[in-house]
Amino acid sequence: LERTFSIIKPDATRRNLTGEINAVIENNGFAIVGQRRIHMSRAQAEGFYRDHKDQDFFQALVDYMVSEPVVVQVLEGEDAIKRYRALMGPTDATKAGPDTLRGRFALSMRENSVHGSDSPANAQREIGYFFSEVEIL
Ligand code: ATP
Ligand code: MG
Repeated sequence: LERTFSIIKPDATRRNLTGEINAVIENNGFAIVGQRRIHMSRAQAEGFYRDHKDQDFFQALVDYMVSEPVVVQVLEGEDAIKRYRALMGPTDATKAGPDTLRGRFALSMRENSVHGSDSPANAQREIGYFFSEVEIL
């Protein structure tokens, strides 16, 4: 079993979609083994998205991520990293299938409802960024 890191983003928490998104996650064979609702600080959001700091959308992305609380999660399952990316759908939700989370819930390129780690190295970094070892036994 593999673990990945997920965020239910502000556009989704604001619309009370946490339960609906979690039902999709669990119905697709993932266990939610860690979960917390947090209001990220600007420093936390900037650190989390540090690989994007030279992108033109970086400042707007950080503003958005601190605009409302989010739900940070650790998901466990077979091939979890790749399978959760597939369940989310592409960043651009206009290209996402109707069965994907972004296809169903995204509002725009930025407000795309969920985040999921894109590699084992990033999954490890992102889980460690928000969770301590004893929270995800
Ligand atoms: P995430 O990392 O959140 O899972 P992703 O890997 O599909 O999403 P990235 O390229 O890592 O996409 O971008 C991180 C986030 O930045 C996106 O999820 C989206 O919220 C925002 N973003 C990406 N590209 C754009 C863009 N062109 N315009 C506005 N926002 C963008
Ligand atoms: Mg990404």
